[in-house]
Amino acid sequence: CGIVGYIGHREAYPIIIKGLKRLEYRGYDSAGVMLYDGQDSIKLCKTKGKVSDLEAKTKEGFSTNGTIGIGHTRWATHGVPNDVNSHPHLSNSGELVIIHNGIIENYAPLKEELIKRGYTFKSDTDTEVLVNLIEEVQKNEGIKLGKAVQIALNQVVGAYAIAVFDKKNPNEIVAARLGSPLAIGVGEGEFFIASDASPFIEYTSNAIYLEDGEMANIRLHKPLKVRKIKDDSLVDPYIQQLQM
Ligand code: GLU
Repeated sequence: CGIVGYIGHREAYPIIIKGLKRLEYRGYDSAGVMLYDGQDSIKLCKTKGKVSDLEAKTKEGFSTNGTIGIGHTRWATHGVPNDVNSHPHLSNSGELVIIHNGIIENYAPLKEELIKRGYTFKSDTDTEVLVNLIEEVQKNEGIKLGKAVQIALNQVVGAYAIAVFDKKNPNEIVAARLGSPLAIGVGEGEFFIASDASPFIEYTSNAIYLEDGEMANIRLHKPLKVRKIKDDSLVDPYIQQLQM
């Protein structure tokens, strides 16, 4: 399984596809990509099978332009390998997009609570629970993506490398890791995200490996902001309620 992301001035699609191929040695059963070209809609293409199957699918009328994107290869843990369970996953509003390697162990009680609050789920994955939890936190707290991701992750038991995109604030990707690797390549006016440095080694030699339990706000034309995920002050009454 693997993660590749890009935000900068180049076309993201070829970087992501080539990068996912370099991560194929990690094993996977499905592949998918999200691209954003600054226009209104988030473009999503995903499929069971190989990265080459994903490439073939994008040739069927999918517009691959965009200078922001995230791509994923999945090793299924929750939900069979099929197109719907493949990543990226969208939140209910359609504005948040996530890719995830790992397992959210307490997804069941979180999912139950989110269903009570009106959320619906298309896939059988633990990952779709996490992206909607982030959305619910964002809604309740009226905060930006980075903080919402941090609060949500403070509710989560499990292992993960994630990258999250928010259409409301499209110059940013938020990444986090616990138990799964994640590297960030820092170029000039561009950033790369990947499970290891091989997808971006030809573009930049400046690689930052997130430590276990760290997250990063990756923003265009701004310095990288890295911090610890765990923060006990983020456990507020709303969150405690959600944990029960
Ligand atoms: N648990 C997630 C799923 O089953 C992510 C699997 C992975 O590591 O690729 O979709």
